[in-house]
Amino acid sequence: MTTHNHAQTDLIHAPRQAPQYIETIQPPLFRASTIIFKTTAHLFDRHWTDPYDYSYGTHGTPTTFTLADNIAQIEGGKYCLLAPSGLSAINLVNSAFLSSGDEVWVADNIYGPNLEHLKNLQDRYGIQVKIYNPIDANSFQPTEKSKLIWLEAAGSVTLEFPDLKNLVRKAQQANVLTVLDNTWGAGLAFNAFDFSDEHLAVDITVHALTKYPSGGGDILMGSVVTCDQQLHHKLYRMHATQGISVSGDDTAQIQRSLAHMSLRYEQQSKSALALLDWLKHQPQFTQVLHPAYPDSAGHSFWTEVCTTGKSAGLVSVIFKPEFDITAIRKFCDSLNLFKLGFSWGGPVSLVMLYDLKQMRELENTHLQQGLLVRFCIGLEHPQDLIQDIQNALKQLE
Ligand SMILES: *Cc1c(COP(=O)(O)O)cnc(C)c1O
Repeated sequence: MTTHNHAQTDLIHAPRQAPQYIETIQPPLFRASTIIFKTTAHLFDRHWTDPYDYSYGTHGTPTTFTLADNIAQIEGGKYCLLAPSGLSAINLVNSAFLSSGDEVWVADNIYGPNLEHLKNLQDRYGIQVKIYNPIDANSFQPTEKSKLIWLEAAGSVTLEFPDLKNLVRKAQQANVLTVLDNTWGAGLAFNAFDFSDEHLAVDITVHALTKYPSGGGDILMGSVVTCDQQLHHKLYRMHATQGISVSGDDTAQIQRSLAHMSLRYEQQSKSALALLDWLKHQPQFTQVLHPAYPDSAGHSFWTEVCTTGKSAGLVSVIFKPEFDITAIRKFCDSLNLFKLGFSWGGPVSLVMLYDLKQMRELENTHLQQGLLVRFCIGLEHPQDLIQDIQNALKQLE
């Protein structure tokens, strides 16, 4: 060990390498802005397309590449980039591929902030936003200006499962880039890069890792996955030039939660089905929405694509019109186990209320009139959750 003349220097340059050959359950955690090059040859010989040519924190560390590789594998893709939130992953795709004069197609039930972001681009950059009905592939009418279509399966509030196969086929024929928000399926309910072994695939998936991969309701992150190297390079350049990066600590937390993601997903799906079974018999609701429920719009498309039989832990109800906003607020405020908050995928069940009239552009004949409440199922026992809803409904009598 070299010593210097001053403790000030020794404290910084003391040997600090962990032994190389220790095997642990979790991989070691790297935190980096600076990455040290061994020699100038390492500095000058690196190439931006080689992801493992570590050069600077924003371009990734073994910690971020480990998680990225795992997410790509879970979703059936090859390349993955991480972003600080699901919405920033969405934004990355839009800014990498849309140019002024392009048309972008979005489902009427799209994740709201994506539409808001696109409308902002529309106003400032002359990008035209076109809305289609996810359960009617005929409503998607691509033109030669159409660049990209956003798909979401299922829609995260009204839970329609889209006519994915026909929408993707149509987009491919028209040379339109297909991007799926894969947060609901989480790579577990179906493989977006190979639908039911038909070799029909989307080009890109976006995933709010904030939800099931994090599983804690405490970490924000997003991912963009593709199988196509050229698309990946385009995304990677935008990722690098915009300085999009994630914290090593957050990444390690999500990596740790991945181990039990499929078990949590399965339990949360099962609990949602138990709730669905009970909710559909309650007289206060005019409609119960869940892709595995035959009365729900898009159920046949779910059957077609989700051959695993899996569905996430979300279920929505539409209250009969006689329940006004005051009643719905009273219902939400009376819940005890269900907490009022956005997001899903964590241990605590959540509830959120929506007025669809303010959220949809198209006429949705498959949705009844009335205020909507979405339940996001956590890891509590489903019987306790049902009891909680039952108690809150009694407050409305
Ligand atoms: C939550 C969510 C997002 C955005 O993720 P954030 O990490 O919260 O920004 C995107 N799409 C869907 C479907 C989501 O549920």
